[in-house]
Amino acid sequence: MSLRQTFAPILDFVYPPRCPACGDGIAGGSPSGDDAFCAECWGKLQLPGQPWCTTCHHPFGADHFGADAHCARCLADAPVHDGIVAATIYGEVSRDMVLHFKHGGRIALAGPMGRTIAARIGDRAQSDAIVVPVPLHRWRLWKRGYNQSAMLGKVIARSLNLEFSPDLLVRSKPTPSLGGLDPKERREALKGAIQCNPRKADGIRGRDVILVDDVMTSGATSDACVRVLKKAGSKSVVIACYARVLHAQPVPKSETPETERPRASA
Ligand SMILES: [Zn+2]
Ligand SMILES: [Zn+2]
Repeated sequence: MSLRQTFAPILDFVYPPRCPACGDGIAGGSPSGDDAFCAECWGKLQLPGQPWCTTCHHPFGADHFGADAHCARCLADAPVHDGIVAATIYGEVSRDMVLHFKHGGRIALAGPMGRTIAARIGDRAQSDAIVVPVPLHRWRLWKRGYNQSAMLGKVIARSLNLEFSPDLLVRSKPTPSLGGLDPKERREALKGAIQCNPRKADGIRGRDVILVDDVMTSGATSDACVRVLKKAGSKSVVIACYARVLHAQPVPKSETPETERPRASA
């Protein structure tokens, strides 16, 4: 019997397991397994599922059935990426997780959040794929102390036994808020902001890349990263995120990520 097992009853009394989203104590186990949510948060957590867009996995409404269907956005403009894997749909519970993790300094959440993304990626990852996080500008990195996407990427790479390259992409200029901008303006605002680290560029030629972001809103930032990676010669780029804001999903201003602000019609 391990020490942890021996002292489990005492530890659980002193430090009862708590739900990572709402902080409530979890008595008698959680319905979601090891990385435990309380029953209420687990019930509210939205997970993407079929039917969805064949290309980007944007879920359709329950009334939409049809294999090999594409969402309006993919039909209008073929995406630059090779697919999107989202652990959750942006909602009350995933928003709380991201707020605690990104703005509340709860860096230990990288474990459960990263493992959830890794479980979603599963077999889609090529065995020689390389995990690359969306970069932060150094000022923001200095202010926050960590790149949340890099922390998730590290967990994902470890879980799937893949190479991790945290500094393959660099953000060479700070990006203003993208909220209120149309897709063309967003692209313009991001122009030249993200670059491939010249010392690492050789390493991704011909490689499959898993690009990691914590929250995917309009997709402008991740698409800018995909373009840079493809230009540098990567074979494919799949975007993996913890929470995905759906196309028609408005998010209150105070809760939006700093770099991108989703819009109802984004
Ligand atoms: Zn909870
Ligand atoms: Zn789509």
